[in-house]
Order: sequence, then C-alpha cells, then structure tokens
Amino acid sequence: MLPRHRPPEALLASLSAVRGRADRLTHTEHLPAREARHAPWPDTVRPEIVAAALALGVEQPWAHQAEAMKLAKSGQTVVLATGTASGKSLGYLAPVLSDLLDGTEARNGRGATALYLAPTKALAADQRRRAAELAPARVRAALYDGDTPPEEREWVRQYASYVLTNPDMLHRGILPAHPRWASFLKTLKYVVVDECHTYRGVFGSHVAQVLRRLRRLCARYGSTPTFLLASATTADPAATAHRLTGMPAVAVTEDCSPRGPLVFGLWEPPLTENVGEHGAPVRRTATAEAAYLLTDLVESETRTVVFVRSRRAAELVALQAQDQLGRPLADRVAAYRGGYLAEERRALERDLHSGRLLGLASTSALELGVDVSGLDAVLMAGYPGTRASLWQQAGRAGREAQGALAVLIARDDPLDTYLVHHPEALFDTPVEATVLDPDNPHVLAPHLCAAAAELPLTDGDLELFGPSTEALLPILEKRGLLRRRGDGTWYWTRRERAADAVDLRGSGGSPVQIVEAETGRLLGTVDASAAHTSVHTGAVHLHQGRTYLVREFDLDSSVALVERADPPYTTAARDVTSISVLSTDTTVDWGEARLSFGSVEVVNQVVGYLRKRISTGEILGESKLDLPPRTLRTRAVWWSVTEDQLLDATIPFDQLPGAAHAAEHASIGLLPLFATCDRWDIGGVSVPLHPDTGLPTVFVYDGHSGGAGFAERGFRRAAQWLTATRDAIAACECERGCPSCVQSPKCGNGNDPLDKAAAVRLLDVLLAGAPGAEPAAGAAAVDGGGAPVDGSAPVGGGEAP
Ligand SMILES: [Zn+2]
Ligand SMILES: [Zn+2]
Repeated sequence: MLPRHRPPEALLASLSAVRGRADRLTHTEHLPAREARHAPWPDTVRPEIVAAALALGVEQPWAHQAEAMKLAKSGQTVVLATGTASGKSLGYLAPVLSDLLDGTEARNGRGATALYLAPTKALAADQRRRAAELAPARVRAALYDGDTPPEEREWVRQYASYVLTNPDMLHRGILPAHPRWASFLKTLKYVVVDECHTYRGVFGSHVAQVLRRLRRLCARYGSTPTFLLASATTADPAATAHRLTGMPAVAVTEDCSPRGPLVFGLWEPPLTENVGEHGAPVRRTATAEAAYLLTDLVESETRTVVFVRSRRAAELVALQAQDQLGRPLADRVAAYRGGYLAEERRALERDLHSGRLLGLASTSALELGVDVSGLDAVLMAGYPGTRASLWQQAGRAGREAQGALAVLIARDDPLDTYLVHHPEALFDTPVEATVLDPDNPHVLAPHLCAAAAELPLTDGDLELFGPSTEALLPILEKRGLLRRRGDGTWYWTRRERAADAVDLRGSGGSPVQIVEAETGRLLGTVDASAAHTSVHTGAVHLHQGRTYLVREFDLDSSVALVERADPPYTTAARDVTSISVLSTDTTVDWGEARLSFGSVEVVNQVVGYLRKRISTGEILGESKLDLPPRTLRTRAVWWSVTEDQLLDATIPFDQLPGAAHAAEHASIGLLPLFATCDRWDIGGVSVPLHPDTGLPTVFVYDGHSGGAGFAERGFRRAAQWLTATRDAIAACECERGCPSCVQSPKCGNGNDPLDKAAAVRLLDVLLAGAPGAEPAAGAAAVDGGGAPVDGSAPVGGGEAP
C-alpha cells in the first residue's frame, strides 16, 4: 500500500489553494537536485569492510566519504560536515573498523581500540548496530553507559575494541577510573565525536574540556588517538572542531551524495480573533496550523513528518490531525517523542517506510539516530533554532529521484516572523557556526579539579587547558580544592570525587523537585535558575497537560509542593533586574553611539506575580513574593546612545523606556539567528540612564555564569543582528507591538512599557553609525568601567533568561 507520489509544487499549491489561505505562503524556494559523485575505496579500507558495505548496497563510497577515510588514516583531526543522509557514519566507520580489524590479529585480540561519543544513548545504540553490520564479530563493539549492567562493565573494559558511550559517562565513569581502563587507553587509536554540532554553549564548553582530559590521560598511557568528528553542515566546521578538541582540524564539507529537488515553502499562520497582553493581536499557533496542513497532506496520501519543539506539541498535533481526519485515516497518524524504546522507534521507522503510517508528529528526538529519510513532506512547526537544524530536518524529505516538500510554519515570535518574511536569511545565508567557549573559567575550574584528581597537574598541562588555566590554579588552591606540592605539581585535596562537582548539562545549582503534595509523588524537576520564575508559591504549573498550583516553594530543600487545581488563570512572574559593568573588554564607536562587550553582574529578584485570565489575558490581580535576589556574573554586549541622538530620533524622555525595552526584547528574539542559542539562554536589561555608562543603555547577557559565547557573538555580528532586529519590528503588521515583534514571553515587567515605533527610531539612530561589516577584532580595548551600581538606580525591563 505504497502511497502515490505527487510532485511537491502540486502539493504546496493544493495546501495554499484552500479558501482563506492564499496569503499564508510567504515564499517558495526551489532547490535543485544534486547528482551523486563516487570515488574508489581507499586501499587502506579492509576488504572485509568493503564486502560488508557491498552487501548493504554500497558499491563505492561517495567522494566525501572516501576523502574522510583517507584523511582519517593520515592521523589528522577530521570533521565531516555534510547533510542528512550523506553517509557520515560510513566515512568514519570504514577507517576505524579497518584498524580495529588489524588489531584483532594482535596476540591478545585487541591491538587497537576506538571510542565513540554520541550526545544521546539512543544514538550510540543505533551506531553500535551499524558497526556490527559492517565489521566481523571479532571487532567487539559494546555500549558503555548508565544502562550497562555492572557485571558487563568489566568485560567492556577488558575486551571490547569499539566502546560507544556519551560525554557524560566519559566524564563521570571512564576518566576518573582510568587505571581500570589502562589497557583500552594504551591502544586507543580513534575517538569518534558524532553529531558534534550539538556540543554548543555551556554544554559544548564542558565537552571540550572533557576531551582535553581524555587527551591528557591518553598521552600518559602512550597513545595519541586521531579525532574524527561528524557534524551537520555548520559554518567553519574546522574552527569548531579545533575549539572542541583543542587540535587543528581539516574539514570535509563538499556533500557528494545525491539529492532530489526540494520545494521549500515559508508559511505564516493567520491572525485570530483572540487578543493577548495589552490587546495585542494573536496568531494561530504554529502547532495548530501544522495539524491542519498535516491533515490535508495525509488525506492526499503524502508521507509527512511534522517536527515540533516539545513533547506536548507532538501529542497535540497528532491528536488534532486524528480528530480532523476521522477513521480510517486517523489510524495512520502517530506521535513520536523522546523516551521511546529502540523497538518502538524501529516499528515507527518500518511503518513510515512501508507507508502504513502516513503522518508522524515528532520532537527533534527524531533528528538523531532514527532513519526516516525518504519522506514526501516535512513540516516544521516553528523554526528549529538554527539553520543547521533546519536543513537537517528538511533533509528528511525526499528520495533520490523524486522531489519533496518542506514547509516552515512560523511561530508567533519575532525570529520566526522575521524569517518567513526574509527568505534570504535562510536560503542565501550560510549555516551558523557552533558557538562554544571552553575558556570560560566557570566551566574550566571544575575540569581542572577533575583532571588533577585523575593525575596531578603539571606546568606541561597549562597549554592543553587553555590560557585561563594559569590564573585559575592559585584561585583553586585558595579555595582549598587544589594544593601545590614542592615539585610544582597540583593535587586534588578532597575526599569526594572531583568529577561529581559538575554536571555537563546542568545549569548550576541543584534542580528543584516538583512534588505532588497529596501523594508525595515526584512529578519532575525544574532547573534552579528557572525555579524562582516558574514554581514560586502560587504559580500555575502545567505538567503533561494537567494543571497544578504551587502550594509552597521551599528554597532550603529545593522542593515545590503542588496540588491539582483548575484555576481560570495563568501566572506570570514579575521581577526586577539591575546590571552593573564589572569590566569592559572591547568598545567600538558607532558614530556617537557606543557598543561594548565585557563582564557584568546581574542581580535579579522575583518580587511578585500576576494572575491572567486564560481566555483573554485580562489581569485578575497581583501578589507579592518574598524571594531573595540572585546574582549572576556573566558576559554581556551592550550599546548606548547619546542625548543628541535621542533628539535626532525625536524620542522624548518619557518614550525612552518603552523604546529601549522594545528594542531589547526584539534583539533577544533575533540573536539566535546569529549565535546558536535559544531565546531562553540569554537575558536583557534596558536602562534609560545607566550609572556605569551615564547614558541610555541596552544590555543583552549570557544566562550562564561566566558566559557561554552568545553575547560575544552578538557583539561580533552586531551590525547585522541589530539591523535584523530593526527590520523585524518595522515589518510587523501589528499596530502597537505583539508577540511577533516586541512582546516577550518571559518579560519580568509584564511587557510594559513597550513603544514599537520609538524602538525603530532608536535603532535607526544607533545603526546610522554602524559599520557595514563586522567590527574589526582588534578594536580599541578599554579598561575599567566597573563603577558600582547605585542601588536606587531606575531599572528598566529585565528579561531573566
Ligand atoms: Zn507586532
Ligand atoms: Zn521586558
């Protein structure tokens, strides 16, 4: 029962031909097909592997795979950065498995070993299966993660030649126990870092330091493994691979796999009758719109996957489409989200391939490690955050010969709205670079402790861990964590395990547990950094479609006690934020205006919350909260304009707070276009008169201690970033500001004041002096500027990240 296949142009035309939908399709892009280019197998690949590949239907590798195989054998760090379904696995597996196979001829049967790292356990499991298909059984591939039973672990350490794990396990389980891994590390020939573009921001910075710890231990055991990285297409993958591994890398980027033509539509859902905060118009949600389009596509027997951003949305889209379809087609639509078992995923893959299943609503869990390529259509309910993921998801559509359809459906926020009206930002712009900052001292410090616990640190290690290391070691000694011995080496002094002090994916502080008061059942957790705003006493908390009220938020025990309730309102926390400049790294003048990058201290206090009627957003009341202020030292980009410029822009002083606040909101919404971050990774503060600059100033800061590299990226791309911000506000069809332009879902000031028109004028005078290109890296450095903040300073809208 294979579905019939219609050309993608016809599909898109039929979607937009439905009455009332004519102007929702804002752009159509036609991407041409690409021919395959093959290359012969390099002689270094063992004939057993070539034969196994042949049995799987691969006669010859594509040219980029062959290139990666050759480079890998030369011992260089290689990053293979090509599209979805371009066979990256074969590119690194062929050389790795060949060498492991050579190793099986050693006397102990394990003359060479390799380590594979994946961001998720599911992906590692899929890769183990793939390795088993390509290599004879005497190459012993084994998973080593939290699920590996203790009795198997010893076997893996002693006998497995290909160990598949994740960075967390390497950090907590393998490196601290390195003596037990001595024979494995001694012969370690390759380290494969798969899906390396997922190692970004603070998580990526941690992983970079874990890899440095691994390299140091290998050197101690006498091995120098070759690092092989696989990545989605990103800008400058070689530089990212260098930052991640600490070693210069060669990139293979020319994708020589074949691709059918792709028709790519940009889609904006309609405005609804509903009104939001301050009477703002509200669009239909991207998920509701996706469900309508999915319904139509399934009706025309088009195999479609919808990518959504949350587990709940996956369930909602599937349910809504099933409702609209009715029987029997409803049975051919399903939801897929993280947490499914391998067998369930296999079954879904099979059903999609066979055509039994026509529609699947999925979180990005499907992006990793599940083979659903060869679909007729892909819908994306909301921009997935980066162009790299966008192409990764769109790449799921299309078989070699036939064309396929991809549609990006905008959510009601400034970034998505901007994108569906600026196709050039998607189609004529290279994918973004992966941002990470391993030198962040908050990231580096715990890894220096962990490294010292693994093997005392020597002066020879300083270079490996980067330029911040030398200054950090004495600080760690002062804190009583490390001690310097007479021979100049640094030791870990505590009894507890140093590696336990840091969770690679954590965001600082122990997470707050959400506990049902009546039953004592643990419903879930929320990050410490988000707890004050989301689970304060009185907050409405949603969990798996059920509504709870927080009865009590106990700071000391990090527990929020909740009870089932059905209030007719939602809650929104109110907070006050002040920010002070600790030091300025770099400043550039944009005419009279100034743009700076440096270190700041952000003090945020949740002071109360609003209750808003669900249906209308009407404010029902406000309650005060007594929560302590929290301090964050981080990195920020900020800009100021002069009083003369305000005069030029005809912004009187009473309009200034609304103008700066609106510009700040929209700029936070647009930064993810330039830095691989999420709107929730960054925060902002706008101040009509800031004590440190003496001028109206807008700050955008990294929401993680010590910074994550996002604000820095904003500084480097400031002209483009703020131009896009200005354009997004100006282009929005609303009258006085809406979620598509200047309103923010996380505003601590209830989106008040906001002045959309004045924000455009403010950005215009700012940008009038901006250079056309990136500010030069060597711009004048300015010291100091760390005047203490006046506690009574008037503070504008604060966006806690
Ligand atoms: Zn608007
Ligand atoms: Zn705000």
